[in-house]
Amino acid sequence: NSARRPLIAGNWKMNAGGQEAMPLAAAVARAAKEFSKVEVVVAPPYTALAAAAHELFGENKSDVGLAAQNMHPETSGAFTGEISAGMLKESGASLVILGHSERRQLFGETDELVARKVGSAIAAELRPIVCVGETLEEREAGKTLEVVERQVRAFLDELAKQPGFGVIAYEPVWAIGTGRVASPEDAQKVHANIRGLLASASIELASVTRILYGGSVKADNAEGLLSQPDIDGALVGGASLDAAGFRKIIEAA
Ligand code: PEP
Repeated sequence: NSARRPLIAGNWKMNAGGQEAMPLAAAVARAAKEFSKVEVVVAPPYTALAAAAHELFGENKSDVGLAAQNMHPETSGAFTGEISAGMLKESGASLVILGHSERRQLFGETDELVARKVGSAIAAELRPIVCVGETLEEREAGKTLEVVERQVRAFLDELAKQPGFGVIAYEPVWAIGTGRVASPEDAQKVHANIRGLLASASIELASVTRILYGGSVKADNAEGLLSQPDIDGALVGGASLDAAGFRKIIEAA
């Protein structure tokens, strides 16, 4: 779809901090230059944002987007250990991953908290990549669409304020880091459903919002997923730590 430039984002999670971040960011910058029709984003840990920014926007001058993996919804204050949207921007980030399933599952993030973060990110002109997805138990109980709908509805009004600014990532929890990938057809069904929800807010929102798939995306399964009409890119965890493999996923887009 011409209104939606394919987007490939690498979530490094709690890996490749400090020194390791620089060669990896530099390799991603080179790959992004080869495939300029694709928007490429990397999300290093907080402590590597500045180093990655130096690699991406210094001499290399790439247009790779730099994302953080989380943020606090308030702008400043007594929140020891937390980071605000403004601080992320100062570190060179222009995007932020919000509501990742690891945040929801391991750190107790609720739909309501994720929605607050989405609102704060947009207010600070930081583009949110908001993650949704069902657990294995929910999938087996036939609740996939219900769960995803609840999660999307929580932040829909925030996204609708600026159509095309925010991105959604559908990441079935059972597929994250497990090597089990959703079939292109199953993923497409959920993506189409999410697009339908966006359309309930506005047709424009539905037509311009990128919906990424995430969950064990690798070089060899990317093409099948990315060829689906409502899959506009991928959020890649494990495979984004290998520059050659990540380059192949960018190529597939
Ligand atoms: C993720 O954490 O966003 C993810 C999709 O991980 P992986 O690609 O390793 O499954």
